[in-house]
Amino acid sequence: MIEGLNFIDGQWVPSSSGEVFERRNPADHHDVIGVFPDSTEADVDAAVGALAKAAPQWAATPPERRAAILEGAAAHLEARAAELVAELVREEGKTRAEATMEVGRTPMNLRFYAGEALRTTGSTYPAPGEGLVITLREPVGIVGAITPWNFPLNIPSRKLGPALAAGNVVVFKPSELTPLMGQRLVEALLAGGLPAGAVALVQGSGRAGAAIAADERVDAVTFTGSTGVGRAIHAAVGPSRRSQLEMGGKNPVVVLDDADVDKAAALIVKGAFGLSGQACTGTSRVIAVDAVHDRLLDRVVELAGEITVGPGADPGVGMGALASAGQLAKFLEYVQIGRDEGAELVCGGTSLDSENGYFAVPTVFAGGSPDMRVVTEEVFGPLLVFLRAAGFDEAVALANDTEFGLSAGIVTNDVTRALAFAGRSESGLVKINQPTTGMSMNAPFGGYKASSTQTHKEQAGDSMMQFYQAEKTVYL
Ligand code: NAD
Repeated sequence: MIEGLNFIDGQWVPSSSGEVFERRNPADHHDVIGVFPDSTEADVDAAVGALAKAAPQWAATPPERRAAILEGAAAHLEARAAELVAELVREEGKTRAEATMEVGRTPMNLRFYAGEALRTTGSTYPAPGEGLVITLREPVGIVGAITPWNFPLNIPSRKLGPALAAGNVVVFKPSELTPLMGQRLVEALLAGGLPAGAVALVQGSGRAGAAIAADERVDAVTFTGSTGVGRAIHAAVGPSRRSQLEMGGKNPVVVLDDADVDKAAALIVKGAFGLSGQACTGTSRVIAVDAVHDRLLDRVVELAGEITVGPGADPGVGMGALASAGQLAKFLEYVQIGRDEGAELVCGGTSLDSENGYFAVPTVFAGGSPDMRVVTEEVFGPLLVFLRAAGFDEAVALANDTEFGLSAGIVTNDVTRALAFAGRSESGLVKINQPTTGMSMNAPFGGYKASSTQTHKEQAGDSMMQFYQAEKTVYL
């Protein structure tokens, strides 16, 4: 069992209040992973105060050095990959294959942002007379990073990587469901040579996250998590500081009459039940036109029934545990809501009869209608709802009929309708004949509508580094 600590002012320390919380393996809740500080406002205050003192030195560190440190952290993660995969499976509940992908992707992210550290540029502008106008890009100062549990290494690496590359100091609050992965990422950065003052790790619940957002010394907050919490953070940060929010989804796949039904079913099942339905880009709605609806539903149900549910560490398991008792309770609550609303439960709808873990069975509802809560609200579990459309236009309208706009898919062999869908989709990511999940690490990532803030995309793309940089105009 691990005795986790915060990292504040260059020291590994417990919470000043002495409060702790426990994390257990969601596939076997007799297995205690560790005890971690349940940080208070006072811990956040100490962390931010220490970062403020260290910020000028890190900002003045040459970009080449910052890049080398991120490269060093990546190498450290790669050297420990096997151990990290095992810990990630145990802490979050995902399968070994899912954990292996995440552990492989995280150092690639850090190397990508190491490159960005070297690419900071400014502009020059024509000026009247003999003068010159130039712009300088500077670090914004102190960045708060507040992250969820479903990619507990990968998502934080996409926030700490660019923030540090740009010369900011960072206070990092991982999810309380995956504190160990948060600690491992900070350990890797320190092993890579990051000066101890440039990062703070504050473990704990939303209390610590709220304290980070409320602290006026924190210049920018980057958050990934639920839309409700994102809105609260946005309100706390206000207009004169920065916030970047990546939030929920209710991602549709539209299937047209010319689609290859087997192919459509396979990518729907992958998008809906991969990561046990707990991916922000996971497929939760299928909108099938009449001509293919029934065949597609049969094939999806068949494939869903072939998924082996169990501990992610076991070979042959295709769907691991849900991350917590709360996640399982929410899933079961929405199964009941769907039934009460009159949707037809076609398969699943239950949990495994397990003494040890939180295992949900892949679940498919048919007969969804636009006003049902199972159709409009994010469940964040393995629950898929079918809706029927008369044709292309109705399918597009149903796909867009949501407050969210993260990822949307279409399955068709008709390139004209595929591109028309891409144009009309109110969604930040559009997937043509691909699962709604999965992304290229060098491409912009972010949603429309209530899924994201619209000002700065995460992960890559032109505006990504600008979130972490202030721009100053200088007249010479
Ligand atoms: P969550 O919103 O409950 O928690 C996210 C983080 O915010 C955690 O660290 C949590 O402790 C913290 N937090 C909670 N209350 C807070 C408050 N009042 N102030 C500040 N911080 C607070 O989300 P979760 O359950 O960890 O993750 C699931 C959600 O994340 C889903 O809605 C999913 O769609 C979303 N998500 C989105 C993306 C994306 O890129 N759009 C990626 C992954 C997950």
